[in-house]
Amino acid sequence: MICFGQPESLIADKQLRLGYSYCVGQVGSRFLRELRDNKKIMGIRCPTCNHVLVPPRATCAKCFSKLKEWVEVSDKGTLISYTIVNYQELYHPVKTPFVYGVIQLDGADTGLVHILGELDFKKLGIGMRVQAIFKEERKGDIRDIMYFKPLAHWR
Ligand SMILES: [Zn+2]
Repeated sequence: MICFGQPESLIADKQLRLGYSYCVGQVGSRFLRELRDNKKIMGIRCPTCNHVLVPPRATCAKCFSKLKEWVEVSDKGTLISYTIVNYQELYHPVKTPFVYGVIQLDGADTGLVHILGELDFKKLGIGMRVQAIFKEERKGDIRDIMYFKPLAHWR
């Protein structure tokens, strides 16, 4: 293959894999510590609009109030959106095909993006009830939740 407009130049076809780290802040740290240490999923309630955000944030995305009231939400919730991933990339958390879902946990007003597991793709659908499955060994990472699996009696 040659470069467009430069017929003497060749193209080197490579892939980059970029690792990176970032500080998740005080709010993110408490959220991840509760996952790791207690297998609890914590949200944070807005004192002004009463919305419970999961994952928690320091500021309400709806009304910009400062948030401090921590509340535990359920490990069960409802699938409100999803996509099936068929194209394998290095950065994917699991092998394809797999499903990314947006899960509104019971007690929360926002959706949490995570992967679904133990899943029959033919039964996948909006409104499906799911439950968080935690890893045995947790390290303070959103992947301490291994995946969300459908609850029995779905369809
Ligand atoms: Zn608010």
